[in-house]
Amino acid sequence: MKQIKTTLIIGLGLIGGSLAKALKAAQLGGTLIGCDRDQSEIDLALKLGMIDQGSVMATDWVAQADLIILSVPVIAMETVMQQIAPYLRADSIVTDVGSSKGSVLAAAERTWGQLPVNFVLGHPIAGSEKSGVMAAKVDLYQRHKVIVTPAPCNSALAIQTVTQLWEACGAEVLTMEIARHDEVLAATSHLPHLLAFSLVDTLARQDENLEIFRYAAGGFRDFTRIAASDPVMWRDIFIANRDAVLQALGHFEEGVARLRAAVEQSDSDAMLGIFTRAKSARDHFSRILDNSAYIPMQNTLIHYRAAPGKALSGRLRVPGDKSISHRSIMLGSLAEGVTHITGFLEGEDSLATLQAFRDMGVVIEGPHQGEVTVHGVGLKGLTKPAGALYLGNSGTSMRLLAGLMAGQNFDVELTGDASLSKRPMERVAAPLRAMGAVVETSEGGRPPMIIRGGQALKGIHYDMPMASAQVKSCVLLAGLYAQGETTTVEPAPTRDHTERMLTGFGYPVAREGASATVIGGGKLTATDIDVPSDISSAAFFMVAASIAEGSDITIEHVGLNPTRVGVINILRLMGADISLENEREVGGEPVADIRVRSAQLKGIDIPEDQVPLAIDEFPVIFIAAACAQGVTRLRGAEELRVKESDRIQVMADGLLALGIECTVVDDGIDITGGTLQSGAVHSRDDHRIAMSFAVASLRSQGEIFIEDCANVATSFPGFVELANGAGMNLKVEKVEG
Ligand code: NAP
Repeated sequence: MKQIKTTLIIGLGLIGGSLAKALKAAQLGGTLIGCDRDQSEIDLALKLGMIDQGSVMATDWVAQADLIILSVPVIAMETVMQQIAPYLRADSIVTDVGSSKGSVLAAAERTWGQLPVNFVLGHPIAGSEKSGVMAAKVDLYQRHKVIVTPAPCNSALAIQTVTQLWEACGAEVLTMEIARHDEVLAATSHLPHLLAFSLVDTLARQDENLEIFRYAAGGFRDFTRIAASDPVMWRDIFIANRDAVLQALGHFEEGVARLRAAVEQSDSDAMLGIFTRAKSARDHFSRILDNSAYIPMQNTLIHYRAAPGKALSGRLRVPGDKSISHRSIMLGSLAEGVTHITGFLEGEDSLATLQAFRDMGVVIEGPHQGEVTVHGVGLKGLTKPAGALYLGNSGTSMRLLAGLMAGQNFDVELTGDASLSKRPMERVAAPLRAMGAVVETSEGGRPPMIIRGGQALKGIHYDMPMASAQVKSCVLLAGLYAQGETTTVEPAPTRDHTERMLTGFGYPVAREGASATVIGGGKLTATDIDVPSDISSAAFFMVAASIAEGSDITIEHVGLNPTRVGVINILRLMGADISLENEREVGGEPVADIRVRSAQLKGIDIPEDQVPLAIDEFPVIFIAAACAQGVTRLRGAEELRVKESDRIQVMADGLLALGIECTVVDDGIDITGGTLQSGAVHSRDDHRIAMSFAVASLRSQGEIFIEDCANVATSFPGFVELANGAGMNLKVEKVEG
């Protein structure tokens, strides 16, 4: 960073004044000179100790300044540039805070012929509807974003200095191209201001004495708060960012026209479609994107402190099955008629699937306390999404959707978060290509995937190279769109929820031993689905009750699909006391209440035929092994290395940290039962690992600190409350990142 002895801030309003305060607090910028055309603002700033010196004449100070910050209204930028240009030193660094960037660039080019190499444009995404030096706040930029828009001609030192200046004020700096900045801000800031001003003005005109506002409720207040912003500043912004604002307004007008037509025609489906999509986008924005535009960032890390608990007791119900929740949305969307779902798992992964189908035009109401209503569009009724389908962390969504997308007549891009972007997709791309699909993956066969529409798929006989329910489901779902028969043959049994649910939706699936066959060209008929509780979630409590002495719990309404019961089989082989009560069938899936009483477990060689039936439950089975007498040996589980994390290695690291002896091999692990010590483990952002070590605390000598547990919400909302209610002792620690 360049050494700054003198900083000149021109324009001592909300933004310039706040910057002066923040720089003073950070002891950065050397002597602070404040310039404003209003002497009283300068006097006030001097009195408040925000600046060291002040003047109405910026020109007096330009030659001395190492850093100059232009914080006047965008429309005044050019005048100020013209004033300072004759005195500006070549090595002085200049930046601005204007809300539009294209106009500031043009003003600089008119002033200097071209943008000076040391003039780096920027825009703090922080502010308020107040103005003037009195409104200045020392922490205005703390935990807010600042967009710096470097130009190709800018010097690296100038970019670095401006970046560090904002970081010192507590902001997170993002970089963006100038044109992109103006487009983004036009859509997310300038358009909402325009609409708020317009709505209030329209209502005020209709009701000259403003009587109508007496009756306005919270919705009106929230929607129009920003109409109290500074009119002059906003006039300037709309002049400065005219083109991008008009473009955003054009998109908005199209949207309003669509909604108007729906209201005129009382088109209930169209209205519900728009409102449910908007609601979910807004919820998504609140949950995930609340770190952008003018509101504080919340980057919270969640850790668990798991202390030894007591015996577990009582009846409990764990959330709905994730696999069934995903498929209920998919098949409900593609069915003809309305599907009602109850017990839907409202975790991030199944919500990602839900959002993807909304993005493809399906009207989906809810979820509300596990209830979802899907207005099916039929197998050919999906429409092209406006952008890429973002599937967050959900491998199931991406792999199953890949199969469905191969049969559409539009192109689709499937993307995910950083962790999903590392997971292998070639395993689904290869059979889809064999069916005639055009599938592009990124480097190393990873996401994003692009699937080209309009291909004629033909049925295949696919001998699967690996036991994977996701690959099988992907191929069978593509088979719904293929000509002729599509058959999958699996090397070992995997979950058959897709086959069962297809049958439940009236689509025939011929099953014989390891093979499943569908014939393309059929149709799905809507049905009601009561999602059973997820055996993967129940598994944490099965192990917990087994290892905590004196426990006796009943886990209600658990799905016992034969392809998922490996965890029960394995725990029983280890000596667990597990009994099934009230066995019944719900929507094609076997369901029961599971009673678990504590028992002394013993180490076993896990039968390889059980591995695919318990693949997601191994992290917590490893905890059972750590509490068992003797060695537990797992082989044939290489699949575990490409889950949300390398589950073999990450579990081994954690167990070793807690004093349990284990040896990792390529496709498995040997774990020698022993005494769990207290210690710190890292979940590597893997929800199942986080919950497994929480269970381990029931038998540890002291507290286990588990890092990065935020992802537990993806598969098991309410885990901590349920666990503590049953007798565990978990504390959640939130750390603002
Ligand atoms: P403000 O509170 O009105 O402050 C602007 C200051 O600049 C006023 O004191 C004004 O004086 C002074 N000024 C105007 N023309 C001048 C000139 N030719 N020479 C010297 N001083 C002059 O406005 P602000 O909210 O701080 O906005 C400043 C800049 O920040 C704008 O470019 C705006 O786009 C940008 N910005 C604002 C926000 C926000 O939420 N407010 C957020 C991000 C960026 P007078 O009062 O005498 O006019």
